[in-house]
Amino acid sequence: MPNAWSNWSGLVQAAPKLIATPADAGELADLVRIAPGPLRVAGAGHSFTPLVKSDGTIVSLEKIEGLVSHDAATSRARLRAGT
Ligand SMILES: Cc1cc2nc3c(=O)[nH]c(=O)nc-3n(C[C@H](O)[C@H](O)[C@H](O)COP(=O)(O)OP(=O)(O)OC[C@H]3O[C@@H](n4cnc5c(N)ncnc54)[C@H](O)[C@@H]3O)c2cc1C
Repeated sequence: MPNAWSNWSGLVQAAPKLIATPADAGELADLVRIAPGPLRVAGAGHSFTPLVKSDGTIVSLEKIEGLVSHDAATSRARLRAGT
């Protein structure tokens, strides 16, 4: 199967037309415009329910990661979605 995705347990499986790992927000925006739908984001794939499953596009945000900012006074941090 060329584009195979499964969740942690293997009970949810998908064969999307495209699995994409955009490198930055610009690539992600382009992808949202042109990718075959439905487009779903996959995290670690730990969900037991078919939330990520798609025949269209599955996106990993693993490359869009890292700390954006941190405020020690309020103990708040902003991190990119793939962190
Ligand atoms: C062994 C095990 C133990 C667990 N224990 C618990 C527990 O104790 N408590 C609990 O609440 N849950 C538990 N879970 C469930 C799991 O933590 C949740 O299902 C969680 O959502 C999984 O996160 P994930 O990153 O793997 O997301 P995924 O399963 O990959 O995706 C889940 C949903 O989140 C969306 N999503 C994921 N990443 C992003 C992103 N970066 N941006 C936008 N949307 C995104 C997906 O599109 C999808 O709709 C457990 C799961 C396992 C396998």
